Amino acid sequence: MYTNICKHCHKQFKSRFKAYSCNECSKKDEDYFDEIEAYLKEYPNSNALQISDALGITAYQVLNYLKEGRLNISRGRFERIDDK
Ligand SMILES: [Zn+2]
Repeated sequence: MYTNICKHCHKQFKSRFKAYSCNECSKKDEDYFDEIEAYLKEYPNSNALQISDALGITAYQVLNYLKEGRLNISRGRFERIDDK
Protein backbone atom coordinates (compact mmCIF):
# COMPACT_ATOMS: atom_id res chain seq x y z
CA MET A 1 0.00 0.00 0.00
CA TYR A 2 1.09 3.54 -0.72
CA THR A 3 0.15 6.57 1.31
CA ASN A 4 -0.43 9.45 -1.05
CA ILE A 5 -1.31 13.11 -0.71
CA CYS A 6 -3.83 14.31 -3.27
CA LYS A 7 -2.34 17.14 -5.31
CA HIS A 8 -5.74 18.84 -5.64
CA CYS A 9 -7.35 18.70 -2.20
CA HIS A 10 -4.26 17.60 -0.20
CA LYS A 11 -6.20 14.82 1.43
CA GLN A 12 -4.21 11.82 2.49
CA PHE A 13 -5.31 8.53 0.98
CA LYS A 14 -4.02 5.03 0.46
CA SER A 15 -3.88 3.12 -2.78
CA ARG A 16 -2.36 -0.06 -4.14
CA PHE A 17 -0.37 1.93 -6.68
CA LYS A 18 1.36 5.25 -6.35
CA ALA A 19 -1.24 7.91 -7.17
CA TYR A 20 -1.31 11.68 -7.43
CA SER A 21 -5.02 12.36 -6.96
CA CYS A 22 -7.67 10.92 -4.69
CA ASN A 23 -10.75 9.25 -6.13
CA GLU A 24 -12.87 12.37 -5.97
CA CYS A 25 -10.25 14.46 -7.76
CA SER A 26 -9.03 11.99 -10.34
CA LYS A 27 -12.02 12.96 -12.49
CA LYS A 28 -10.57 16.47 -12.72
CA ASP A 29 -7.34 15.05 -14.00
CA GLU A 30 -9.16 13.02 -16.62
CA ASP A 31 -11.02 16.11 -17.82
CA TYR A 32 -7.89 18.26 -18.02
CA PHE A 33 -5.98 15.50 -19.63
CA ASP A 34 -8.62 14.98 -22.31
CA GLU A 35 -8.45 18.68 -23.10
CA ILE A 36 -4.68 18.70 -23.29
CA GLU A 37 -4.69 15.70 -25.55
CA ALA A 38 -7.30 17.27 -27.83
CA TYR A 39 -5.30 20.50 -27.91
CA LEU A 40 -2.06 18.71 -28.78
CA LYS A 41 -3.81 16.88 -31.60
CA GLU A 42 -4.79 20.21 -33.09
CA TYR A 43 -1.57 22.06 -32.27
CA PRO A 44 1.12 19.37 -32.08
CA ASN A 45 4.05 21.71 -31.46
CA SER A 46 2.67 23.49 -28.44
CA ASN A 47 4.68 23.94 -25.29
CA ALA A 48 3.39 23.86 -21.75
CA LEU A 49 2.87 27.61 -21.61
CA GLN A 50 0.72 27.66 -24.74
CA ILE A 51 -1.33 24.77 -23.43
CA SER A 52 -1.86 26.41 -20.07
CA ASP A 53 -2.88 29.67 -21.77
CA ALA A 54 -5.33 27.94 -24.06
CA LEU A 55 -6.93 25.70 -21.44
CA GLY A 56 -6.77 27.95 -18.41
CA ILE A 57 -4.69 25.60 -16.29
CA THR A 58 -1.24 26.33 -14.94
CA ALA A 59 1.90 25.41 -16.84
CA TYR A 60 2.99 23.73 -13.65
CA GLN A 61 0.03 21.38 -13.89
CA VAL A 62 0.74 20.67 -17.51
CA LEU A 63 4.32 19.76 -16.63
CA ASN A 64 3.05 17.57 -13.83
CA TYR A 65 1.04 15.52 -16.29
CA LEU A 66 4.20 15.20 -18.31
CA LYS A 67 6.10 14.02 -15.24
CA GLU A 68 3.36 11.55 -14.36
CA GLY A 69 3.84 10.06 -17.78
CA ARG A 70 0.33 10.99 -18.83
CA LEU A 71 1.32 13.07 -21.82
CA ASN A 72 2.65 11.18 -24.76
CA ILE A 73 5.32 13.38 -26.29
CA SER A 74 5.45 11.43 -29.50
CA ARG A 75 2.28 13.19 -30.64
CA GLY A 76 4.25 16.35 -31.03
CA ARG A 77 7.14 18.25 -29.70
CA PHE A 78 6.55 19.15 -26.10
CA GLU A 79 9.10 21.54 -24.74
CA ARG A 80 10.03 21.96 -21.16
CA ILE A 81 10.02 25.44 -19.73
CA ASP A 82 13.48 26.60 -18.73
CA ASP A 83 13.96 26.97 -15.01
CA LYS A 84 14.87 30.52 -14.26
ZN1 LIG B 1 -8.39 15.07 -3.85
